[in-house]
Amino acid sequence: MTNTTFFVPGPTWVRPEILKEMLRPMIAHRSQEFSELFMRVAANLKPLFGTTQDTFVANCSGTGILEAALTNCVPRRVLVTTAGAFAERWLAIGQTLGLEVDQLNAGWGSTVDPERLADHLTSRRAHYDAVTLTHNETSTGVTNDVASLARVVHEESPNTLVLVDAVSSLGGIPVQFDEWGLDVCLASVQKGIALPPGITIFAVSARALERCKKRPYRGTYLDFLNYKKHADDGNVPTTPSIPHFYALARQLDDIINVETLVARYRRHETMRDTTIRRTSGYAELASDPEYASATVSALIPARSPDELRAEMKKRGFTLGGGYGKWKATTFRIGHMGDIQLDDLNAMLDVLEQVAAA
Ligand code: PLP
Repeated sequence: MTNTTFFVPGPTWVRPEILKEMLRPMIAHRSQEFSELFMRVAANLKPLFGTTQDTFVANCSGTGILEAALTNCVPRRVLVTTAGAFAERWLAIGQTLGLEVDQLNAGWGSTVDPERLADHLTSRRAHYDAVTLTHNETSTGVTNDVASLARVVHEESPNTLVLVDAVSSLGGIPVQFDEWGLDVCLASVQKGIALPPGITIFAVSARALERCKKRPYRGTYLDFLNYKKHADDGNVPTTPSIPHFYALARQLDDIINVETLVARYRRHETMRDTTIRRTSGYAELASDPEYASATVSALIPARSPDELRAEMKKRGFTLGGGYGKWKATTFRIGHMGDIQLDDLNAMLDVLEQVAAA
């Protein structure tokens, strides 16, 4: 038990020993010492993403790599699949970049249906350079079946790249980058990885890197080919957030070698099931229960969500508010990262009393 009282779906609670890693003295980033730190991180990012291909760390939150994925990989047309606010972010970025953007919308609370995606891809003559998927929709608390969706893209449109937002899944829900045939997959670290916000980790396929070579303008700061060139030398293009590198190295060691990925995923599933079971008397799951997320639950309570959260705050607990168009009707419980089942149960004990009052 950690005694955390913080159940926001990102940023999530961070272990004190991880915060302590961030206080280590600075090292020069063009040094052997940093290269060793970089290699330690890179070695553990591979199993985390389920890849033997390239993985990188960038100084930005997840949205930076959402934009960079489009800038680096998409010359013209992209299909954005949506089922909530964060998937819609791909849409907004694509439009801002002046791309031709189509949307396949499943609606809030649902997941993207692989058959509908197949129909969409076969009925359109125009070729998409990429399809975007959002693995875990943090606004509604559902997990899309990325394995099946990616398979559909490969079958119906083999030259189309698959770009995946795994911001609120990676580290809490399995991701198999190579097996699923993904081309870009990214996650900021303030959710399932349970670090303070500020950096994003991402994997890029060899096929996507080839595609980048054909893009005359890939941006400067987040040019994937520049990341690849430096990563091959055990380094990064610009001054990294060294405190984050220390914390990430320690956290990945702990995730992969101490807790293990299998146990971590199981812990998240148990926290989801516990949340749904223990709130069912006073709140309704806002989204399709069949696809309920292992990292975040969006709930419609019998009493006002704002009141409920305010009462919890008075008792020392912070819960997540509703997001976007679900702001007024839902609240969210983040059960992700390093939160333990005991912590969740202690919070749910109090929530039960507050909901009944
Ligand atoms: N995608 C998803 C699924 C998210 O949950 C979030 C943030 O909550 C983002 C993207 C944006 O990430 P960031 O705030 O790290 O830019």
